[in-house]
Amino acid sequence: MYDYDLLVVGSANADLVIGVERRPAAGETVLGGDLAVHPGGKGANQAVAAARLGARTALLARVGDDAHGRLLLDSLRAAGADTVGVLVGGAPTGVALITVDPGGDNSIVVSPGANAHLMPADISAAVSLFLASRVVSAQLEIPLETVVEVVRNLAEGSRFVLNPSPPRPLPSEVLAACDPLIVNEHEARVILGDSCVSEEPADWARLLLAKGPRSVVVTLGAEGALVCDSSGVTRVPSVRVDAVDTTGAGDAFTAALAWKLGSGSGLAEAAAYAARVGAAAVTKRGAQESYPTAAEVDAL
Ligand code: ADP
Repeated sequence: MYDYDLLVVGSANADLVIGVERRPAAGETVLGGDLAVHPGGKGANQAVAAARLGARTALLARVGDDAHGRLLLDSLRAAGADTVGVLVGGAPTGVALITVDPGGDNSIVVSPGANAHLMPADISAAVSLFLASRVVSAQLEIPLETVVEVVRNLAEGSRFVLNPSPPRPLPSEVLAACDPLIVNEHEARVILGDSCVSEEPADWARLLLAKGPRSVVVTLGAEGALVCDSSGVTRVPSVRVDAVDTTGAGDAFTAALAWKLGSGSGLAEAAAYAARVGAAAVTKRGAQESYPTAAEVDAL
C-alpha cells in the first residue's frame, strides 16, 4: 500500500512579475506596474496540480528560509500537498524575475537559488518517501546529478515520469527509467539534437523512444498530444477552449498524466485526461492559480 499517489522531485520558485510598456534595453530603466508575486517552479507547480485533482501528493524540493519559501509552502499546503519533503535553507528561494509587455512577450531572469542546492544526498536521505510513492516525477530545474540519484532511488515497482525542462542532453540511465518521457516541441528538438531529422512530431516520438525510454509523450499545445510506446504512436486530441494564459499548462498535464498512470490507466487514456487538465489550466491566468479540481475537469 502506498502513502502517496505521486512524489514530485523538483524546483520551487517565486515568480516576480511586472507589466511594462516596453521591456528595457541594456542600460535602460523603465517604469512598470505593481509587482505581483506568484508561487511557481515546475516541481511545485506539478505538486499543486496533482493535489488539486485529489492525488495524494508529496514534494521533495528545497526553498530558502525566507518569505518566498513560506509563500511556496503555503500554496502547496492550501492545495493539499504534503510538504514533509520540502527542505528549508542553504540559499535563498529560487526566483524568476519576469517583465511582460502589452503584447504578452516577456523577458525572464531565473536565479535557481535553493533549487541548485537540492543535492543527490538529499535524495538518498529521503528513501522513505520513495518507498511510499507509486509514481515519481521530475523535471530539470534542479541539478542533473540529483535527477540521476532520483532514478537510482526508485522503489521496486514504482513508475518514473520525466519532463526534461529546461531541456539538455540526458544520460542513458535517466532515459531508460522514463515511462514516459514527456516533451513539448522545443524539448523534443533539444533532446534529439542532430538526430532530429524530421519536422513530424510522430517521428520525434519514435526517435525519442529509440533513445531508451519505455514510452514517450509529445505535447502539442492546442493540438493536444501524441503518445508512443512499443505498440506505436497514438494521437490524443485536445479540448477546444478559449485560452487566456498557457503558463504552467505543461506542468498540469504532466502531473495529471503521472497520477492517472499510477491509478492504472493506460498511456493514451491517461494522456486524454491530462489534455483536459491542461486545457482547463489555460482558461485561467497564472500557473498554480489556474489548476482545476477533478470536478472542474469533469465539467469541461
Ligand atoms: P508546455 O507548457 O510544456 O509548452 P504545451 O503547451 O504543449 O506544454 O501544453 C501541454 C498540454 O496542455 C497540451 O498537450 C494540451 O493538452 C494542453 N493545452 C495547452 N495549450 C492549450 C490550448 N490552447 N488549448 C487546449 N489545450 C491546451
